Amino acid sequence: MGDRYYTFVNGDFKEVGESRSDYVQSQYEPLDKYIARSGYRYFEKFLNEGNKFLILELLVKVGLLGGGALTRLKALASNADRPKYLIVNGHEGEPGGFKDRLIMERNTHQLLEGALLLSLALNVDEVIIAVNERFRNAKAVIERALDELRTFLTNRDLLSKLPPITVSLIGSPYIVGEETALINSIEGGRGEPRLRPPDPTEAGLFGKPTAVINVEVAAAIPILLSNYYEGKEITIEKYFCVTGDVDRPGLYREKLTIGLNELLVKAGAKEENVKAVFVGGVSSGLVHSSRIKVRLTPEEARKLGVFLGPGVIIALSNSRCIVDVMLEVERFFAHESCGRCEPCRLGTRELVNILERISNGKANEEDLKWAESVAKTMMDTSLCGLGMSAGKVLLDALSQFRDEFEEHVKGVCRAGVHFR
Ligand code: SF4
Repeated sequence: MGDRYYTFVNGDFKEVGESRSDYVQSQYEPLDKYIARSGYRYFEKFLNEGNKFLILELLVKVGLLGGGALTRLKALASNADRPKYLIVNGHEGEPGGFKDRLIMERNTHQLLEGALLLSLALNVDEVIIAVNERFRNAKAVIERALDELRTFLTNRDLLSKLPPITVSLIGSPYIVGEETALINSIEGGRGEPRLRPPDPTEAGLFGKPTAVINVEVAAAIPILLSNYYEGKEITIEKYFCVTGDVDRPGLYREKLTIGLNELLVKAGAKEENVKAVFVGGVSSGLVHSSRIKVRLTPEEARKLGVFLGPGVIIALSNSRCIVDVMLEVERFFAHESCGRCEPCRLGTRELVNILERISNGKANEEDLKWAESVAKTMMDTSLCGLGMSAGKVLLDALSQFRDEFEEHVKGVCRAGVHFR
């Protein structure tokens, strides 16, 4: 007998099919239900009389857009070069991340409304939803939603006033999530980052001005706009994918006032048993347990040296060996490096070699210094974020858990993972 998929509704399990595809389709929110819960309420108002930069300013206000991005997007909006594109990045390759996939599958119309609103603000000619090739169920659901949406817009005589939306499957390797690699992938080329400048907002897809925005950001736009028009507080709830050493891993939707320690406890971690946390995922940074009593706001995250964007929170308990964890992280980066630039191609492999020596008890103090030096070089000179992240996260570990690395050099692993 094959697998069975169920939903839990009103205290009861209901069978929905035999495949994940059946399950995803069963979770789909049709357009009439989305409209009933406030969908498209202010769409025509914004279309007819909206201050086009309002949406960008609301995104800045809640920390979903930085000042630099705001300037670039405003320049793109007034750029006369055509066609102009808006790409919604649904790659989500960060290990431990699954919020964007779930938004695409379950809040599909909210995502499409957000993308259309932004397309009006930016005055673009085409919207492309770029979906990781691993998320084919999400693509099927988006296409179903687009069919409904076309009928809805045609009935209101709006279709001709809006840019077309297409869905494009993109490669799954980690680096394709980087926006210039993503553009290469949509063009049918190899998913490798491009040199900057130029920024994609000046010359992106097919050399034309292109804005790239994340799925979660696009889906937040209808809510922000409703709050603004209804005079409510301009705020958002952010999705956090909490995994690692917690009893209740999953997707948590929280106000940005929640403390990192509170979120971990909510997910079933025991605060006194937390050793460290990857905040924003392994590409963002590692935070020692002594620093987890912070609010998960963009400003606090910046002070911690991490970014919240991917929403990935991975808890490590005291039973984890930091050297072991970092070895796995650097193996991941070495595997995912596209090899285009030397600091990353050679650096990730070198970090793996050093960490293997440390975990085998064959390293010395000089190796720790060398690891530091390689990681710094990678941070400073890598072509894109992958190489920079691979260096940065090891520096985080070396600065906050130096004692554990030094113990390994002496043949001691306090977690009991090595030298048994
Ligand atoms: Fe490729 Fe790594 Fe260089 Fe990025 S940093 S371009 S992933 S080799």
